[in-house]
Amino acid sequence: MAMNAELHQHIIEAISRKIGNRKLVCPVSGHTDSWGVDINGAALPVANEPGGLVSAHNDVFPVAVIVCEECGYTFLMNLLKLGLADELGAETPVNA
Ligand SMILES: [Zn+2]
Repeated sequence: MAMNAELHQHIIEAISRKIGNRKLVCPVSGHTDSWGVDINGAALPVANEPGGLVSAHNDVFPVAVIVCEECGYTFLMNLLKLGLADELGAETPVNA
């Protein structure tokens, strides 16, 4: 499900604050100016205990999906670590 435009913008701003003045270089294509934050959020299931298995009943980390528009290289950033838990209405898991 697509997130609303305001949340999408806040995610972009939070990521930009983390990057600061550095150039984010794609490790595959080498491009630095082709990054996009997908409007669709994602959730990364996490084990509830060290070494535990992941199932549909586990906690999830809400994540931003960052994509290099040149080559498709994709990585995730934890939205809780970006300080967006309140805006997401999310509880922060113990191991977030
Ligand atoms: Zn790339």
